[in-house]
Amino acid sequence: MTQFDFSGQTAIVTGGTRGIGAAVSRAFLEAGATVVATYAGNAEAAESLARACGQPDRLHLRCFDVGDYGAVQAFYRWFEGAFPSLEVLVNNAGIRRDAVVGMMPAADWEAVLRTNLTGSFQMSKFAVLQMMQNRYGRIVNITSPSGKLGFEGQANYAASKAGQVALMRSLSKEVARRNITVNCVSPGFIETDLIGGLPEEQRQAYRAMVPLRRFGRASEVAACVLFLASHEASYVNGATVEVTGGL
Ligand code: NDP
Repeated sequence: MTQFDFSGQTAIVTGGTRGIGAAVSRAFLEAGATVVATYAGNAEAAESLARACGQPDRLHLRCFDVGDYGAVQAFYRWFEGAFPSLEVLVNNAGIRRDAVVGMMPAADWEAVLRTNLTGSFQMSKFAVLQMMQNRYGRIVNITSPSGKLGFEGQANYAASKAGQVALMRSLSKEVARRNITVNCVSPGFIETDLIGGLPEEQRQAYRAMVPLRRFGRASEVAACVLFLASHEASYVNGATVEVTGGL
């Protein structure tokens, strides 16, 4: 799928066991990286990815909540003991809990912000400490057009995704001098479990909004993530690349 060479590099992909994250994990493995794919609890999906990839030496699975500070800290303690360096972090883990604001339970607001935004902050915080030592790193946040456009019923999700862009913009300025780049990929409607559960009527309406008139494939998002994570993207920093079919 890709011409990029990640041999000798280690990439952490949060939510790297399903949907877009799984495609990103696969793409990094195909490009020669060692991959740590994290997930929240669906061990069956994680093990099924591991079986499909057939790379037991280069694919590592870790289960923890990216929104839990202590769990993130414990993960990085394990990581530092297991790997000599960290080259790539992809903040992909994400959830949605849709409801219009007037009907949105406070717990759903908090859960989405905590996973999508606080999770990206916590994972990035420890990652940059490692990357700064090696004076090299690539961080890619998976945001969404929802953060820019806003969608009815997605105020929590949209706020978390806009927050990921703002986090990326600030962090990209903080760490650039250490040769660490931070960027976002903004996928449009991608055929994964996240949108698989939408009512057919809504799926049709979404599809009609896309100039290319189809949902995207997770592998099409992964190709963009790999570019931003590659040595070749050395002068791309603080950018958001849209993979939306022209939305
Ligand atoms: P999926 O629902 O298919 O997969 C989500 C992944 O994130 C799973 O591996 C899941 O683990 C993991 N995860 C969820 N919550 C946590 C948590 N608290 N801690 C650690 N891991 C967690 O999602 P998609 O592949 O569709 O989406 C991936 C990213 O892309 C998200 O950030 C999403 O917002 C974004 N995106 C998706 C679009 C789409 O159309 N699909 C469009 C635009 C953006 P487990 O399997 O254990 O539940």
